[in-house]
Amino acid sequence: MKIQDIQAIQSLLATPKKVAIIPHRNPDGDAMGSTLALYHFLSKNNHEATVISPNDFPDFLAWLPGSEMVRVFETDKENCTQILKEADLVFTLDFNAFHRVGEMEKVLEVLDTTYIMIDHHQKPDDYAAYTYSDTSFGSTCEMVYNFISFLGQKEQIDTIIGTCIYTGILTDSGSFKFPNTTGNTHRIVAELIDLGVENTKIPNLLFDNSSYSRLQLLGRALQNLKVLPEHKTSYITLSQDELNSFNYVKGDTEGIVNYGLSIKGIQFTAIFIENKDEKIIKISFRSQGGFDVNEFAREHFNGGGHRNAAGGKSELSMEETIAKFEKIVHTLTL
Ligand code: 5GP
Ligand code: MN
Repeated sequence: MKIQDIQAIQSLLATPKKVAIIPHRNPDGDAMGSTLALYHFLSKNNHEATVISPNDFPDFLAWLPGSEMVRVFETDKENCTQILKEADLVFTLDFNAFHRVGEMEKVLEVLDTTYIMIDHHQKPDDYAAYTYSDTSFGSTCEMVYNFISFLGQKEQIDTIIGTCIYTGILTDSGSFKFPNTTGNTHRIVAELIDLGVENTKIPNLLFDNSSYSRLQLLGRALQNLKVLPEHKTSYITLSQDELNSFNYVKGDTEGIVNYGLSIKGIQFTAIFIENKDEKIIKISFRSQGGFDVNEFAREHFNGGGHRNAAGGKSELSMEETIAKFEKIVHTLTL
């Protein structure tokens, strides 16, 4: 972050402010972890902070400290809009373009406020007065740790803030396996553990709290897995009917995409999940090695993300979407 920006933010935060903090739509562990970490930090410093999520967060994140204070725009539009209008500062975390908040985009576009962006995705838009954007980081949570440190407030990071930060680092790094996991990531995590963050309990809360029906859904997803060995590619489909038959709840499909990469020799994988309400197929892409799924998602499926993890969507039917995907894959040399 630029030193002038840090100084400007320090003086903005020198007196109590009304602050709204926003994660992206369909928030994941990093989006919720980073917004709640900042929420606790600002609240501790006498600011009136509110986390406003564009839509609801998945159950597997409901144990995060402060999650009960999160406002959900989709189900509380009037109050959320009012809070946003009154905010002196609006932090946007773990995204860098207003279209990532869905319907809330319309409110954000016309808001007369000071935006601060903290994010690790590519190609940031320029709506923010202060932008801390760096794609070399594995998570926004790691950047929030740095942000608090830049402000000279590192000693304010307690076990509650640390728990939120640890959660985002853990989930966005694939449990410390993804390539942008650095020595610094581990040094930060080491400090958090020294503070008392329960590093063995958190993965358990996140990943070992599955329902029986979620495991059955995973079983179906794995049965649906197709492999295109000559293109080092695999993919999974889940139709709305399949989701319904396993009593799908938000969050149940989290992480399933990664199984497609666990087959020997596979470098590119995708999961296609039908959403009949939104009339779209939501897609997640993952790669290992040099293949850039961010570019792939941007070019072909109206999405984006990072080099090895990205998402997108299709308004075609499942069959048409798969046909399109396979056709493009046939032109790739992986
Ligand atoms: P996931 O597949 O876990 O939903 O997302 C993987 C990564 O891609 C995340 O960093 C997420 O923010 C990003 N991403 C997912 N869906 C979209 C999308 O539709 N558009 C853009 N620009 N990024 C996305
Ligand atoms: Mn993230």
